[in-house]
Amino acid sequence: LAERLQSTIKKITGKGKVSEQDIKEMSREIRLALLEADVNFKVVKDLINRIKERAVGQEVMESLTPGQQVIKIVRDELTELMGGENSKIAVADRPPTIIMMVGLQGAGKTTTTGKLANLLRKNYNRKPMLVACDVYRPAAIKQLETLGSQLDMPVFSLGTEANPVDIAKQAIEKAKEDHHDYVIIDTAGRLHVDTELMTELGEIKKIANPDEIFLVVDAMTGQDAVNVAESFNDQLDISGVVLTKLDGDTRGGAALSIKAVTDKPIKFAGMGEKLDQLEPFHPERMASRILGMGDVLSLIEKAQTNVDEKQAKALEEKMRSMSFTFDDFLEQMDQVKQMGPLDELLGMLPGAGKMKGLKNAQIDEKQLAQVEAIAKSMTKKERQEPGIINASRKKRIAKGSGTTVSQVNRLLKQFDEMKKMMKQMTNMQKGKKGKGGGF
Ligand code: GDP
Ligand code: MG
Repeated sequence: LAERLQSTIKKITGKGKVSEQDIKEMSREIRLALLEADVNFKVVKDLINRIKERAVGQEVMESLTPGQQVIKIVRDELTELMGGENSKIAVADRPPTIIMMVGLQGAGKTTTTGKLANLLRKNYNRKPMLVACDVYRPAAIKQLETLGSQLDMPVFSLGTEANPVDIAKQAIEKAKEDHHDYVIIDTAGRLHVDTELMTELGEIKKIANPDEIFLVVDAMTGQDAVNVAESFNDQLDISGVVLTKLDGDTRGGAALSIKAVTDKPIKFAGMGEKLDQLEPFHPERMASRILGMGDVLSLIEKAQTNVDEKQAKALEEKMRSMSFTFDDFLEQMDQVKQMGPLDELLGMLPGAGKMKGLKNAQIDEKQLAQVEAIAKSMTKKERQEPGIINASRKKRIAKGSGTTVSQVNRLLKQFDEMKKMMKQMTNMQKGKKGKGGGF
């Protein structure tokens, strides 16, 4: 989604108070971004109206700042727009159930065919047969056969000379004979939608009478995905969508538009090339991803459950009286540790997706250990009154913690900044609660 929306969201997230002007500005950005993504005008209008209504009426949640609340509303509405979670697969009254896979070349049809078969057997104890109807490239049949042998599942093929419609027909007969309860038909794609392809797919559909037609869409194709989805749906009346390559760094705005344009559920998400990397599609995760905020809300939830209420209260009192010390700091670090592995936490933070590749998480764990060592090398008095730490004390602390004086200096400086930040935060909270006044 648009970069401008990103920056608007960034602006609003940190805010203690959100003005009507902020909401207006944000609504405008969201509207533009969605329209740019070819989402139906009426859908956008409805969405914006609902967001405005709820944001102005502002359901009160103690735990979130108003800025976060607006974000939550937008996220909720986006989630709803993408539909509920629905990863059901049809079951025919009389087996076999026929699933037809369609989509452009390279979207991931063949791979998803294998993944679906794997999932049907693993989760539902089914016995699928795969059908190679992409006769235009010999490699395509070979690819499906390779998947079949990896899965130890039969692949029906008549080579590259046969007509795809005949292949589908014979495959279904064979599946009945061999008592397969699912038939998954892998079809050909093109680089672009064309009539020839659509005609062929239409004929296969007529013969096979599928219970499901899954449109496979590459999430990386962005805006183009919308037109593709619309044409396929118009021509074939698809029953659901599989969004592939969501393991990449795409924002996934396509998901939103596809659902809006076709009104067909996005059922599964492809999360990698391997056969077990197919997951039910989670609209709320997608909404967060589109907003580029990682899973901020679940991070907040996690923080709430882990930080002991009483301790938090005491801490707040301390911050207010400015007696926050390195002892408290150590205690806080323990709480952070209780929240789980750092890399997992980082994954929930906005922008952390980009950092992951750099293995920042590991570095951070190390830094944390260092910080802890420094704090623990201080005397009780030093922890309570960091102001007394002079040059010779710094040297001793560095030696005791296996760090350097400059590292000790850095921590002391960070601690000072943290204290300042906390002062601001408590001021803000006091303002919110309407108690007024500074310290
Ligand atoms: P088809 O032309 O639609 O049959 O597409 P393929 O199934 O041959 O897939 C095209 C390429 O995309 C292959 O290299 C696949 O390994 C890759 N691919 C498919 N699904 C995914 C996915 O969910 N994640 C990633 N990273 N790659 C995928
Ligand atoms: Mg293929």
